[in-house]
Amino acid sequence: MAGLQINHLYKRYGKDKHPVVKDFHMTIRDKEFIVFVGPSGCGKSTTLRMIAGLEDISEGEIFIDDQLVNHLPPKDRDISMVFQNYALYPNLSVYENIAFGLRMRKLPKHEIDIAVKKASRILEIDPYLNRKPRHLSGGQRQRVALGRAIVRNPKLFLMDEPLSNLDAKLRVSMRMEIIKLHQNLGTTFIYVTHDQAEAMTMADRIVVMRDGIIQQIDTPERIYSMPANTFVASFIGSPQINFIRGKIEENALGVLEFHTSRFKLPVHGSNATALRKHSQVNKQVVLGIRPENISLEALFSEAVISGSYQFTELMGADRYLYLDIGQDNLLIARVSPSVHFEKNEAVRLGIDTLKVLFFHRETGERFS
Ligand code: ADP
Ligand code: MG
Repeated sequence: MAGLQINHLYKRYGKDKHPVVKDFHMTIRDKEFIVFVGPSGCGKSTTLRMIAGLEDISEGEIFIDDQLVNHLPPKDRDISMVFQNYALYPNLSVYENIAFGLRMRKLPKHEIDIAVKKASRILEIDPYLNRKPRHLSGGQRQRVALGRAIVRNPKLFLMDEPLSNLDAKLRVSMRMEIIKLHQNLGTTFIYVTHDQAEAMTMADRIVVMRDGIIQQIDTPERIYSMPANTFVASFIGSPQINFIRGKIEENALGVLEFHTSRFKLPVHGSNATALRKHSQVNKQVVLGIRPENISLEALFSEAVISGSYQFTELMGADRYLYLDIGQDNLLIARVSPSVHFEKNEAVRLGIDTLKVLFFHRETGERFS
């Protein structure tokens, strides 16, 4: 069991003045499953390695269970780490691979035996304990690597892209294994990935990073529906959120509207309040709408976008329509697979105005 307090953490490599991790600050509760997500090079691994003690801290503090660990060597932090490139000992059996760390620490034989068997039962690799790694599938080998981490019964698990080397199908099933593992162990997990789908499916809370800076820390639900800025909005979700540029205007009745050269949409409720609060009337803004909040039932909608059909992607249960709405990017709508259009056919789409988000045109911050 472990809670963490990370205070204003910075990392600078060598004489480089520009930090690769900048003012990383958060509290992690005991038993939480935290995911760090962001594009390659944004500082996820560096942050994790500072928590593990594998990387010096340039500035800031890390507390594990109220103990300042800045200068504590990795072995004294009671942490287990699983990497993308886990290496098993090829000449040792699965049993010996899992037991290795405990033997190094000279634990009594029967204690090692209990720990190995318990870990292998949790991971369902107990039938293979006598096999050599080369006689296992990729998923089984990955579970042995996890087994090696969990036998040590650490108070904190750190995982750095542990599933990246697996094929897509196996990745999805291993995701579930790790979620189960977290539930069974009741231990704090910090998991690093560049894959937004892994972050969304696994995390209690997600930390979205960009260029070494935290963009948002929140539950998957809130990250998705209330992204802090355009970066978070577009990084999370597939297909991506649509951004539409336009101007906020007030009509003769005092109602706010979003205008583009081709269409206008009414702006209601909390969005109207937020846009007024931030003095955005008569200003250019960016509207965000996710593809699933656009529908073909424009007839009953008070908010309609018109576009011309360009092409389609059939995804099985859904179809993605790509429409030209007179902006730089095509609009993507997620609709029923049964619809068909001709190239350049005019299409009217209804927008769920309650799901519309507005962002500052330059900073990308969401108005709230
Ligand atoms: P991520 O895990 O999010 O892909 P990293 O934490 O590995 O990103 O890297 C963050 C930044 O730090 C990158 O720009 C990377 O090039 C740089 N970096 C990582 N390790 C070193 C190092 N040992 N020396 C110098 N720069 C490094
Ligand atoms: Mg990394």
